Amino acid sequence: MANIRVPYLDLKAQYQSIKPEIDTAIARVLESCQFVLGPEVAGFEQDFAAYCGTAECIALNSGTSALHLALLAAGVGPGDEVITVPFTFVASIAAIIYAGARPILVDIDPRSFTMDPAAIEAAITPRTKAILPIHLYGQAADMDPIMEIARRHGLVVIEDAAQAHGAKYKGRPVGSIGDLACFSFYPGKNLGAYGEGGALTTNSPEYAQTVRMLRDWGQDRKYHHALHGFNYRMEAFQGAILRVKLRHLERWTEARRAVVSLYNQHLAGSGVERPTEMPWGRHVYHVYTLRTEDRGGMQSSLLAEGIETGIHYPVPVHLQPAYADLGYGRGDFPHAEAASRQVLSLPLYPELSAQAVAEVAAAVKKAVANRTPTAMSR
Ligand SMILES: *Cc1c(COP(=O)(O)O)cnc(C)c1O
Repeated sequence: MANIRVPYLDLKAQYQSIKPEIDTAIARVLESCQFVLGPEVAGFEQDFAAYCGTAECIALNSGTSALHLALLAAGVGPGDEVITVPFTFVASIAAIIYAGARPILVDIDPRSFTMDPAAIEAAITPRTKAILPIHLYGQAADMDPIMEIARRHGLVVIEDAAQAHGAKYKGRPVGSIGDLACFSFYPGKNLGAYGEGGALTTNSPEYAQTVRMLRDWGQDRKYHHALHGFNYRMEAFQGAILRVKLRHLERWTEARRAVVSLYNQHLAGSGVERPTEMPWGRHVYHVYTLRTEDRGGMQSSLLAEGIETGIHYPVPVHLQPAYADLGYGRGDFPHAEAASRQVLSLPLYPELSAQAVAEVAAAVKKAVANRTPTAMSR
């Protein structure tokens, strides 16, 4: 295996840049000995609600928990259907199954990689309860038509914003557009904890109250259980760390966007398809994906030069063995399937140097130039 010169992600660089602040926050939690929820988590909830422009934020132990509780708060249960897409991280679909409901899949728009609003109405049945669009790669789904269809059919909209902290749709922050929204703070996400973490945002005090109860065993008072709840509480360490990191998020997002514009300059005219920032919003580039017919060849030539890449995601959820029982098959979602075959994610993090970006872009161009005719016809 080649020496990695440019890793896909580098979390150490970021920690080094904020080490004193983080270390102080961690020490504060240790001194307080309040390790679960508490003032650090409550403070983060206030800060993150303000950042998203919502009335409420409930901090949780993962993005998956946020999806699960959003569905439960919306009243989704056995016999219900929830419309989402197969081109996503598996959690978006798993959470629907946790709630006892049935995921109904629709294809993506091939340019934005997000839910194609034109595909939604044909999927609506009398059992449909909610629509769950994913702001994939850090780009908002086309929310206006999604909200319009949902309102017309009396459906709840749950945003999966796990990859899209700080993204905007027509000037509005994601997390504030649907009825409920879910964020993940998994370490590699744009806003990452130092462990697991997630949050739900909403403008509805009723949803917020239900989610606060559900995350803590359904209690309305200590040891009084009004609902069937869960242990989905955020740890104080994560709340304290996320409060520090949230203060830097806009700067990091701008740094990501600067890396992307460098990639775009270097790769213009190179023959590879670059990501499209849709006119409706601000893309926060959790992931920068190229599309290429010879994805395998490009990935191995980059690796041979010490450049790590990622594939998000190699198999759409409807073709995963675990979800065969959803009843879909190959050919059902051609845009999702083509994307799964063609996408390749380049290294991207706020601290990535211009030098490294230039090296990665040069390696991409070299791989395109060296493509053999057999590889091209695959
Ligand atoms: C990361 C992610 C999740 C799950 O978040 P966890 O915090 O890992 O549970 C859900 N949906 C999408 C689109 C994600 O990228």
